Amino acid sequence: MMKNEITKLVRDSFQEIRAETIGIARELWSLAEIGMLEKQSSSLLTDWCEKNGFVVEKSAGGLPTAFTARYGKGKPSIGILAEYDALPGLANSALPRRDFVERGPGHGCGHNWIGAGTTGAAIVATRVLSKLDIDGEIILFGCPGEELLWGKVAMLREGVFDNTDVLLATHGSNKTAAKVRPNQSLVSGEFVYSGEAGHSSRGGSQNALDSVELAVQSLERLRAHQFPDCSVEHTVRTGGLMPNISPDEARLWVYVRHVDYERAKEVYHYVARICQGAASLNNTQCREQFLTATHSYLPNETIGKLLFRQLKTVGPPKWTDENIEWFQDLVSACAPGEEFELHRGIDYIDDAYDMSSQDDGEASWHIPLGRVSWALPSAVPFHHWARTASAGSDAEIPSALVASEALALAAVELLSEPEIVKTARAELDQRRGAKPGPPLVGAFQTFTGDPDSFWNNTWAEALTIEEAAEKNSAQ
Ligand SMILES: [Zn+2]
Repeated sequence: MMKNEITKLVRDSFQEIRAETIGIARELWSLAEIGMLEKQSSSLLTDWCEKNGFVVEKSAGGLPTAFTARYGKGKPSIGILAEYDALPGLANSALPRRDFVERGPGHGCGHNWIGAGTTGAAIVATRVLSKLDIDGEIILFGCPGEELLWGKVAMLREGVFDNTDVLLATHGSNKTAAKVRPNQSLVSGEFVYSGEAGHSSRGGSQNALDSVELAVQSLERLRAHQFPDCSVEHTVRTGGLMPNISPDEARLWVYVRHVDYERAKEVYHYVARICQGAASLNNTQCREQFLTATHSYLPNETIGKLLFRQLKTVGPPKWTDENIEWFQDLVSACAPGEEFELHRGIDYIDDAYDMSSQDDGEASWHIPLGRVSWALPSAVPFHHWARTASAGSDAEIPSALVASEALALAAVELLSEPEIVKTARAELDQRRGAKPGPPLVGAFQTFTGDPDSFWNNTWAEALTIEEAAEKNSAQ
């Protein structure tokens, strides 16, 4: 079959599932399940895959809400990464203003569109694959807990991505683009302080919150001179119940980011020392509960250029006047006074780096990985109620579907022209040099056995980053 005939076949198939894809994105948005608890979201996607002839394996790698859905046989194996986790506390209706019933979870990063868009793309690719007389496999990877930067790191360690030749991914952004630049590596861990409860008016108590505050003050005090190059963020997840009860437990969750993975790990080790040091000052105990470490994205130009070409095949998003008005209202509500800017073209972004982190970064050091992004207005902040509103609105449909269709076209091109896969592999080997060490995974029992305990702050899986490294290299 000629190249342009294949393109037409993909584009026609995409039209067939367009309405269904939008419906699935809406359903995922309404479910809004947070990391490692995405039971219904995961089933929604596996049901859709099964209806379309995929062979589904649930609980991939032992992660209850992960899955693989496979179609076809032989090489190459083209993987597409689905995500579907929401964020706590970011609920909002799909209206262009702050509007929520209760402070529940919401799709404040638009992962409902990642779940629907990638599954739609995978289904389209298999429909075309079945009409072409060629070898090859499409694998949709259901990846939970992305916001924890955990799911794909654990799936990688458990071998779920083994024998996959290329991975394709998508995410919302302020531009519709092929993204070929790094982001930041990230190391995450929770430091749990244990002291003694007692009446706060008495002196000399082992107040766990005091230890957390000492740790935070030390981090802030030392930042400028010890790690000015890193972003170190934290949240205090529990810090007591009443001012007149000295808390016997307080929890400090810390992220360390840097483009360079080794530097992020080095600073995390330093942060861990600070946290332990703070405990010694008022005789509390500090337990490190390491969570995850992910490399920054390793760009792949071979896949990036293919995605850019296919984005251009689809063409820029076609927003209606109504969509634009809706976005303008949203920007006025969430960023009053800010200029309305909406990217209407298609870009190839390979300069500088993104400040955020994603767990597919870890996979990109093992398997060539390409990324497309879809645009929403620049003034809409991510991890914000306005992002939740947008992800549930009609206004986001045109750009999210451009990304999805480009993924389908790219997947089919990789199947029909496997030499691109070889070039992408050679590029990966050349860019990364030596193979990176095994992925560092913490909280495995917690997230696979009792994820609720993570979210209600009772989890107690003690593991230092050093222990995680030893454990993983022993496997
Ligand atoms: Zn995200």
